Amino acid sequence: MKALADLLFPHITKTPADYYAQFPPRDLPSGAKVTRIAPSPTGFVHIGTLMTALVNRQLAHQTGGIFFLRIEDTDKKREIPRSVEEIIINLINYALTPDEGYVSVDPLVERGAYGPYIQSQRVEIYETFAKYMVEQGVAYPCFCTENELDRLRKTQEAQGVARPGYYGDWAVWRNATFEQIKERIDAGERPVIRIRAPYPNEARVRFKDVIKGDIDMPANDLDSVLLKSNSLPTYHFAHVIDDTLMHVNPIIRGDEWLSSAPLHIQTFEYLGLPVPDFAHVAPMAKMDGTSKRKISKRKDPEANVMYYYEAGYPVRAVSEYLLNLANSGFYDWSKANPGQSYQNFPINLDAMGVSMPLFDLVKLNDISKDVIATYSAEQVYEYGLAWAKQYSLRLAALLEADPGYSIAVFNLERTGQAPRKDIVNWSDIDRACGFFFDELYAESIAVNLPLPAYGEEVITAILERVRQFDASATKEAWLDAMRALGETLGFARDAKTFKKNPESFKGHFGDVMMVVRAALTGRTNTPDLYEILKIMGQSRINQRIDQILARLGENQP
Ligand code: GLU
Repeated sequence: MKALADLLFPHITKTPADYYAQFPPRDLPSGAKVTRIAPSPTGFVHIGTLMTALVNRQLAHQTGGIFFLRIEDTDKKREIPRSVEEIIINLINYALTPDEGYVSVDPLVERGAYGPYIQSQRVEIYETFAKYMVEQGVAYPCFCTENELDRLRKTQEAQGVARPGYYGDWAVWRNATFEQIKERIDAGERPVIRIRAPYPNEARVRFKDVIKGDIDMPANDLDSVLLKSNSLPTYHFAHVIDDTLMHVNPIIRGDEWLSSAPLHIQTFEYLGLPVPDFAHVAPMAKMDGTSKRKISKRKDPEANVMYYYEAGYPVRAVSEYLLNLANSGFYDWSKANPGQSYQNFPINLDAMGVSMPLFDLVKLNDISKDVIATYSAEQVYEYGLAWAKQYSLRLAALLEADPGYSIAVFNLERTGQAPRKDIVNWSDIDRACGFFFDELYAESIAVNLPLPAYGEEVITAILERVRQFDASATKEAWLDAMRALGETLGFARDAKTFKKNPESFKGHFGDVMMVVRAALTGRTNTPDLYEILKIMGQSRINQRIDQILARLGENQP
């Protein structure tokens, strides 16, 4: 076997032992967990990657351990330019900068003594382990082409073989002689390296998944590929080697990997390595009609972390939302620990759901409203403007035209015991506060002016009175004045009086105020009108009244 190993890997002089010596366990307190995320740079950053990163980081940091980033770029065909950068930028934005691995972009900066942290630069390591396995007789080269494998599958199907695949007697290169292999190598062919799985293999694999509990599966009997012909590893091989040399425990990963855990465990065992703990995380799901399905990278915009930036959800809101999906205890914890950062939440892998957590936009919106309600008006201005500069230049211009006014707008019912929770995210500023800004107000009333039909004379009388709005007078004084005016115009002083005798009145005091509200905001539902008028100021009030009265005049026959 030694001769075969040397034939396949003549340039490899190291042994696994050299790497075990080079990467000794880190000097960490007992119980410290080393965790990682290991995304592939194959497109946009999935929201599930952020959730896994949050869980991994919390777990590592709350135990005094290390959280790192490893880039799994072994599938060169699927690689998308700048994906690595996108991953790093998102981790930084979400306060998840890894302790080891890439910590910044442009230029890429790598930190940590257990690297390289990108798999394409670890080829020599994989080859060393592959060579060792060949030498031990637990792996072998295979020169089958895609076409040959295809033919094998078709033959198996035609013969009704229960399980198509490369294993046992079907594995044509499993028992090839040294000479047969040498002939191919001499001809310049490059083999893949496959694991030599016991066959038949009646054994079972049993382990305790940290999230899913007791697992009992058939042991692996497929001769799966470990190293591809370009010397890049498959996920299976890279996982075993990298997570060993980087001392990761537990392995927290998507549950699509659970089915290949027997192969991984077999590989650890062939290498004489301890098997780490596994925590297989269920993917995020959503309701599609009445059925629950996994969120799809292709179909669902909310799978992409960009979706949350574009909608203007604060990082804290998304983070709290994801922690809430990961551990339903997060909600109670945050209620019991007001003012504490979500980063202090003690995550518990045992408490992660076995079934797919349901993506819930309503919940995200509620959390986001709560988060934004804790911001000062100045913060809302700053964050809202930063968002608008990227995603809504028009809103940015409106906000910047008069920063003092914008901040006063955001301060409406913000201070005090129960701050207003009206802004869902930064793209919601238009809906929640747009009427304060003249341009948006004008557009809105051009489309719809919800003014009650009391006739021009009555409406004019009410609005003319608002020209005398006195910001220095109390709210009560203003309301009294409007109530008195209403009475002279034939409105009951309150709803109760009106109800007793509806035919004697045009309406009641609330209807008078509705005229003011509709005319000055273009809406039928607003925060406190007195506060709104105070913020708007008399000259804006007068301008708006002019516009409305001019419009009433135009509509006359
Ligand atoms: N590169 C793998 C993936 O993106 C990583 C899985 C793992 O965390 O082990 O699915």
